[in-house]
Amino acid sequence: MHVLRHDGLTLSLDCGLYQGRREESRQLNQQFPVRPGELGMVLLSHAHIDHSGRLPGLVKHGFGGRIFATPPTCDLCGVLLPDSAHIQEEDARFWNEKRATDGGRIQPLYTVEDARATMPHFESISYNTQFRLGSDCWATFIEAGHILGSGMVILEINRNGRSRRILFTGDAGRFQVPILKDPTEPLPECDYLITECTYADRRHENPTDMKERLCRIITETRRGGGKVIIPAFSVGRTQTIIYFLIQLFMEGRLEEVPVFVDSPLSTAATEVFARHPECYDREALQTWGREGDLFGRSGPVRYITEVDESKALNDMREPCVILAASGMCEAGRILHHLKNHVANEKDTICIVGFMAQHTLGRRIVERREELRIFGRTYPLLARVEILNGFSAHADVDDFRRLYTPLAGRLKRAFVVHGEQKQPPAMRALLQELGCRDVVIPSPGDRFSI
Ligand SMILES: [Zn+2]
Repeated sequence: MHVLRHDGLTLSLDCGLYQGRREESRQLNQQFPVRPGELGMVLLSHAHIDHSGRLPGLVKHGFGGRIFATPPTCDLCGVLLPDSAHIQEEDARFWNEKRATDGGRIQPLYTVEDARATMPHFESISYNTQFRLGSDCWATFIEAGHILGSGMVILEINRNGRSRRILFTGDAGRFQVPILKDPTEPLPECDYLITECTYADRRHENPTDMKERLCRIITETRRGGGKVIIPAFSVGRTQTIIYFLIQLFMEGRLEEVPVFVDSPLSTAATEVFARHPECYDREALQTWGREGDLFGRSGPVRYITEVDESKALNDMREPCVILAASGMCEAGRILHHLKNHVANEKDTICIVGFMAQHTLGRRIVERREELRIFGRTYPLLARVEILNGFSAHADVDDFRRLYTPLAGRLKRAFVVHGEQKQPPAMRALLQELGCRDVVIPSPGDRFSI
């Protein structure tokens, strides 16, 4: 959450939820860098919770302004913010039950009701359309290529006849990721850059190789009579995998198998994806043109929202593919599927995303001999496959490509949204590309430009 003040205008770039250790997160997520009632507007780069997840808290504490975002971001927030609120409520309930004896009850950060009350504040603005924020202040969203609806924000501020341009990346996407358009290229010239740096120190595998490996894994598992279980995040990862499967079926390279998306959130997110073909790249549009159904909703993919149907999957004997949330295997329906399949050597657990330390997902990645699920121990006998090329974040090569035409003319760059190693890596890259003034700000730092 970056607050900008100009000529009586106070606006925020994003308003994300800090996700980390519980106590620390609670502290951080309850504080705002500015009084919510004082804030006139929020410009939201994309719907991921670490960028949007504090908006209901902002509204709960008196924010009365507008939230500008692209149309798909508005739609995705309509799905993700109530879900985040539900998690907050469950977490508070769990905590209060556990600590009931020593008092210290906590309130959820915000409720589903607060999330619903946030939605009327949203105002959708199409890509590449300049809109007015104040007397001398304008903004435009340009394609970021990160998730559906993701935008970089260009702010143009005029003062005493001089114009200043600030580019805020939100999360920068990758070139050639499936379904989505590439990030805008070349990026418009600007004076100041506020850039994320999540993978500024890394190089990703190629997404097209992931399609080939997926094909091989499913073919082999099916031949052995097993099922493929894929823990996947609901927004982006699930749709990419489904898209690859649909393509593989169409190309005749993968014999059709039943595919189940077992998650109400993934189902709702896929509906949003299906509503926004204007965001697809050329290849996805061609597939869409031929199929009319990029995500197999009229077959061969079954989207499961009801618990009974989810349970019925346990009794299926024939080979199939099951995608379920949550992505890191910490909660949700994926746990039931893992419980039923980790000890079966015919089955395959296919890991397609980052697994944080101390999660069940990480223990699967490490191929531990035994796993604890719902308080019971199971031997890990299923085959484990790890596909690392699905990231939706720019890597060092993408950043180099994006910033090469830009860096030499920047007055200053601010490096944000990193942990320990990434900000210095991004600073080194920007300096190498010719930007002399690179700052790594800490929370609460202020700057005049
Ligand atoms: Zn993101």
